[in-house]
Amino acid sequence: MLIKIFWDQNAPRGLESAVERRIHSILGSPLEVVESCILLSGYDRERDQYDAQKILSRIQLYKRQRGATEPILLVIPHDLSMKGQDFVFGLARESVGAAVVSTARLDNGYYGRAREDSDLAGRIAKEGAHEIGHLFGLEHCADPECVMFPPRTLGELDRKKLAFCPACGKRFRLSEGVDAL
Ligand SMILES: [Zn+2]
Ligand SMILES: [Zn+2]
Repeated sequence: MLIKIFWDQNAPRGLESAVERRIHSILGSPLEVVESCILLSGYDRERDQYDAQKILSRIQLYKRQRGATEPILLVIPHDLSMKGQDFVFGLARESVGAAVVSTARLDNGYYGRAREDSDLAGRIAKEGAHEIGHLFGLEHCADPECVMFPPRTLGELDRKKLAFCPACGKRFRLSEGVDAL
């Protein structure tokens, strides 16, 4: 099944194809990156963050209006929050095939370091593939090198490989195969 990656107009430019290639190397699924036309909502001025659940609801609404059935991953530059957590790198809603990833804390600049495009593309790909994994029913994995490991810090994210562990990879291929029928 074709997976659509919606690139927000303010998300880092010039990384689209690098991210697409990397996510494809993890999932093996056909992907397409397109300019996002999804209107964001859920901005909290005090926290300077967007509510990840409200963004997923926006994607859900978009899919319903267009009759879109393919899984959608939205890439945005803004920091994301969720009830009970200071921030999230991303979030997925499996029941509607909608996921979102924020590049805010994936950029070296956030930590006062020089921007490095290949670092940033790799991190967006890891988090993007992680959320797409959830859309296909995958849960969190205890293997710290697996894409489905839930990182709490940039260090933990960087420790992950651009790959599923064998068990998660098998689960993904099974679930994707069922979906394609
Ligand atoms: Zn997760
Ligand atoms: Zn795993």
